Amino acid sequence: MTVSIVLFTADLRLHDHPPLRAAHEAAQVIPLFVRDRGVTGAGFAAPNRLAFLADCLRDLDAGLRRRGGRLVIRSGDVVEEVCRVATETDADEVHMAADVSGYAHRREQRLRRALEAEGRRLHVHETVISAVPPGAVAPASSDHFAVFTPYFRHWTGVRLREPVPAPRAVRVLDGIGSERLPDRGGLSGLSEGLATGGEEAGRARMTSWLRTGIASYEDRHDDLAGDATSRFSPHLHFGTLSPVELVHRARKAGGPGAEAFVRQLAWRDFHRQVLAARPAAATADYRTKHDRWRSEESAREDIEAWRNGRTGFPVVDAAMRQLRYEGWMHNRGRLLTASFLAKTLYVDWRVGARHFLELLVDGDVANNQLNWQWMAGTGTDSRPNRVLNPVTQAKRYDPDGAYVRRWVPELAGLAAPSVHEPWKLRGLDRAAIDDYPDPVVGLSDGLARFKRARGLD
Ligand SMILES: Cc1cc2nc3c(=O)[nH]c(=O)nc-3n(C[C@H](O)[C@H](O)[C@H](O)COP(=O)(O)OP(=O)(O)OC[C@H]3O[C@@H](n4cnc5c(N)ncnc54)[C@H](O)[C@@H]3O)c2cc1C
Repeated sequence: MTVSIVLFTADLRLHDHPPLRAAHEAAQVIPLFVRDRGVTGAGFAAPNRLAFLADCLRDLDAGLRRRGGRLVIRSGDVVEEVCRVATETDADEVHMAADVSGYAHRREQRLRRALEAEGRRLHVHETVISAVPPGAVAPASSDHFAVFTPYFRHWTGVRLREPVPAPRAVRVLDGIGSERLPDRGGLSGLSEGLATGGEEAGRARMTSWLRTGIASYEDRHDDLAGDATSRFSPHLHFGTLSPVELVHRARKAGGPGAEAFVRQLAWRDFHRQVLAARPAAATADYRTKHDRWRSEESAREDIEAWRNGRTGFPVVDAAMRQLRYEGWMHNRGRLLTASFLAKTLYVDWRVGARHFLELLVDGDVANNQLNWQWMAGTGTDSRPNRVLNPVTQAKRYDPDGAYVRRWVPELAGLAAPSVHEPWKLRGLDRAAIDDYPDPVVGLSDGLARFKRARGLD
């Protein structure tokens, strides 16, 4: 009788789950999640993500129980815990999803060695967390694509596997000790408007968005106030939605909205294949511009203003306040707040990336660090010195000011265009918003400093 452990990591679902499907062929399955000391120890366990994770684990356990099984939870070093469960249950094999960070690679190697030393096998499944795995497409001259457009061309040509259905029943070995499921109730420092995690919530969102949102995605994805993107990112981060299934379903829906949406999913795989090939890009410049960023000490007031949504640039402040309140920010907001910090304020992108990771419910090493690098001009952007002007961005992507008014109550009484440039108001109009700060920097001064620093002046 074969006993198989399924080690869940960033794939907390039952639908379209190849490791579970493969293990299911065995007579007995042990669905296992290890609260990994390596992740918490690295400071990666932010309260918002811990809360979402708790929802996901509860939901996964409930889904398994509906199928006659349950989730086994352990805490500690992931390799030690998997080996312990394998010994307790005399498991023959372990199935898990491939992942891309340096940490994930080391975890896989350590686990393989430890299991093989005990005569057990590790099966690592691609296309669980990525739709197209790193290395599946690569240029002739390199191990990864450094430019998105040719990557996307090749990515589009890859034939994806068909999604696999959720198992009807999961037979879990009796008598295995498990810790209690975590609960978001005990956590402090959560964003008030944090989304609910779990596969059930993810699939409900997928169904409704494919029905009502995807068709207008191309036209509306940059509309800050319209909030018309899928909001799948936390579900993709924790794997409560499958990227393979999403690509299939979007292609089936068809049309320009679906095409634009699939392109964004390809961006996710693009960053994952960059990180897989260059794990150091999580913290080091991918393509250095030899920046000598302002020191955190000398830029401290500017950094604090940025973090707290008090830069005096309404659209920047609105986005930063959305991040704090929801643990999530619209992509256009992420772009313009990152440009503002790294270029207009000339602060090291790592300072911004760290703050995002403290709050983002979808905070993800590949997507966060490489998008930050893209915007800082140290990553894969072919126009590394572009600077997004927050006023121009605001007028284009929040034309009537609704997004700013939603998140910056001090300005709720203003109409566009004043709501985007309150410093231009005079007299009583100005006095009415005296609790809103003046701009921390003149935009032309910020631009001149950046050009000087990059030798572009
Ligand atoms: C500075 C900065 C930091 C970011 N940090 C993260 C992060 O930590 N985690 C994260 O998931 N995304 C990050 N993004 C990418 C993007 O902003 C979010 O994925 C997106 O806003 C999530 O909203 P959505 O699910 O509604 O996206 P949609 O527009 O509906 O897109 C669907 C999915 O495509 C993927 N996607 C969309 N845009 C991008 C992109 N630019 N790069 C990679 N994948 C993308 C996401 O998985 C997203 O869920 C960051 C972007 C920037 C500019």
